[in-house]
Amino acid sequence: MRVGEREAKSRWRRILQASVTLVLALVCAPGLWGQRSKLKPPWNMYSPQTDIQVGKQNAQMLAKRLPLCNDPKVDAYLTQLGLKLVAKMPNRGVQYPWEFHCVNSKEINAFALPGGYVFVNRGAIEAADSEAQLAAVMAHELSHVVLRHGTAQASKAQLMQGAAGIFGGIFGGSASGALLSQGVALGAGGLLLRYSRSDETQADVLGTQALYDAGYDPRAMAQFFEKLQAETKGKNPPQFLSDHPNPGNRVERVNEEIDKLGGVPPNAKRDSAEFEAIKREVMSLPVVKTPPASAGNAPPASPSGNFVDYQGNGFALKVPQNWNRYEDNGSVTFAPDGGISQKGGLAYGMIVSVNQVQTDGSEQSLENATRALIGELARTNPGLKVAREPARIELNGQPGLSTYLSNESPNGTEETDWLVTVLRPQGLVSFLCVAPRAAFPEYEKTFTAVLDTVRLAK
Ligand SMILES: [Zn+2]
Repeated sequence: MRVGEREAKSRWRRILQASVTLVLALVCAPGLWGQRSKLKPPWNMYSPQTDIQVGKQNAQMLAKRLPLCNDPKVDAYLTQLGLKLVAKMPNRGVQYPWEFHCVNSKEINAFALPGGYVFVNRGAIEAADSEAQLAAVMAHELSHVVLRHGTAQASKAQLMQGAAGIFGGIFGGSASGALLSQGVALGAGGLLLRYSRSDETQADVLGTQALYDAGYDPRAMAQFFEKLQAETKGKNPPQFLSDHPNPGNRVERVNEEIDKLGGVPPNAKRDSAEFEAIKREVMSLPVVKTPPASAGNAPPASPSGNFVDYQGNGFALKVPQNWNRYEDNGSVTFAPDGGISQKGGLAYGMIVSVNQVQTDGSEQSLENATRALIGELARTNPGLKVAREPARIELNGQPGLSTYLSNESPNGTEETDWLVTVLRPQGLVSFLCVAPRAAFPEYEKTFTAVLDTVRLAK
């Protein structure tokens, strides 16, 4: 009996041990509770290298135009936080160049361009209650990058709009890099950041997984969106919410994913002393006075009557002294402070570019090249319409065409775009004059004065 009893006891112990092992196995392998969702990137006609190229080009332009925090401590913090999350995401064999910038804007916003160029407004850092919430915003943005949602949207747009390249030259079409930057300045930046509801769900789910894997409380993913929505109820939604529309069941889907992952880990990280220190640092940064030309902001200062010289490729002109200039790959944009929206859309100013074209030297060449340029612009500006058909004019004694277009302004109203084109040996030189419709009559005087100063190389 004793022996038997001992045997029974030890058998009981073995069963107990086995069950403990089983329970531990279940706890430690969340896969047994339910598989984490597998995410398939949407159809994309571009290569990952294109994501990097187009993202880099936009990022360089934005880095010049946006007021950056220029605080190495903050950038280093964003970089280490971002890379920690990136390490938990599938990169499908692509080495993204990952860059993280803090933008000195109080607007609550963060966005990531294709290829991994990430911009986080100080407003987003200040609005986050904890490191987990900031990590959630970033994990969501980084997910859009690795799932390549930006160029997937561009692929869809291109499929609907025909064969010619949205991004012009970069994609091996006949259009030049100048067209690319023209398109970008007018809103391809916006196109690359316009996500569908299914993109949003994918970014929420992958972001939740990355938060979980990086040791953060994954509930933060839905929290930040919820908080923003609650705080801005009845007001104009911040850009962040209109760029990332609620797919309708954000909280439910995030919670479902957390369940699949095995629930919120008891030791999940919510905040850190480092985050609180960075938040204080950001709050102490000087506030940049000039607001971006987005909805509701004051219009920029009127064009100065004093003009300054500019020498371009095959042309020279004079522009108002208070217009900044941004040179970019064969094109130059002139705009006052506040004339460019945060995402790079030109609201007030002028873009001059030289576009490579093939001409047969016929009289029709100028009109054909002009119409091709308008078609190219329309691909990145879905609201673009010809308001007044091309009419003959003279520019510095050369035959040119004057076309009026109407378009959606980055400031939310309608804008008028006055396009003047001339055909020169180096290509189609285009002068695109942009102002909101209400301000156009005032600006047209300046545009006319600028065009009168144009000298074309013989
Ligand atoms: Zn999103």
